[in-house]
Amino acid sequence: MGLVAGGIALYADSHAVEENDKLQVVVTNSILKDMTEEIAGDVIDLHSIVPVGKDPHEYEPLPEDIQKATDADLLFYNGLNLETGGNAWFTKLMNNAQKIVNEDYFAVSDGVDVLYLEDEEAGKEDPHAWLNLENGIIYAENIAKQLSEKDPEHAQLYQENLEKYTQKLHALDQEAKAKFAQIPENRKLIVTSEGCFKYFSKAYGVPSAYIWEINTEEEGTPDQIRLLVDRLKGLDVQSLFVESSVNPKPMQSVAKDTGIPIHAEIFTDSVAEAGNEGDSYYAMMKWNLEKIYEGLTE
Ligand SMILES: [Zn+2]
Repeated sequence: MGLVAGGIALYADSHAVEENDKLQVVVTNSILKDMTEEIAGDVIDLHSIVPVGKDPHEYEPLPEDIQKATDADLLFYNGLNLETGGNAWFTKLMNNAQKIVNEDYFAVSDGVDVLYLEDEEAGKEDPHAWLNLENGIIYAENIAKQLSEKDPEHAQLYQENLEKYTQKLHALDQEAKAKFAQIPENRKLIVTSEGCFKYFSKAYGVPSAYIWEINTEEEGTPDQIRLLVDRLKGLDVQSLFVESSVNPKPMQSVAKDTGIPIHAEIFTDSVAEAGNEGDSYYAMMKWNLEKIYEGLTE
């Protein structure tokens, strides 16, 4: 590409041109960021909005997020009442950026078998579909499909990366199903702060209990804590779990009141900080599966 400046033709090197031509992609959280990177590598420019370790249900976009969202060619969000529930921060962001659903921005959960909330927000969609690896595969397929449509030049690369990635996820899913089937029935209960394990419970055959059902509710009121403590009395539960993206205090109260220890921190609504165990979707699922299995069987 030639530019004429002061009568001298300047030629940008091909590398620089390529950089400017990269597809501009924005995702709402660290899990979607990792999946998108698995499929696209560095052929796109990627911005992730909610920082690692923070709650994606409720968020206030920064000026940088608004700028990147406005400039984006393509945006991915979870949907199912995650960023569009509570204060609906993503819906507002898309309206402000004048983006159109299913043209500019896409729910990666499109096509999953949806489960619903049961308590205060009964009837609304439960967003945590990614905690079933089979749904993670659907997310990855949706991401690859939209990337390929917006950027057909790299469609083959996206497809190849998708195949490698989903094979890995499928193998972990099979391994998890075999492992969790071996847990004695009376030990099968996953206790977390937020009730984010519905999809996981259904996929791996282990029921779950929680202090509050979804992060858009009040988190860890004395009533919520007492209800769980009462439920745990008389059950043969050996371990509690706490998620990296919530306040650990309510679960610490449950541990104190029941005498059941918190076995591990697990990753539900965010991957781990880069460089730590659990710092990708695959690694966080593997970590959760190992820690939960360990906590329920030891
Ligand atoms: Zn959540």
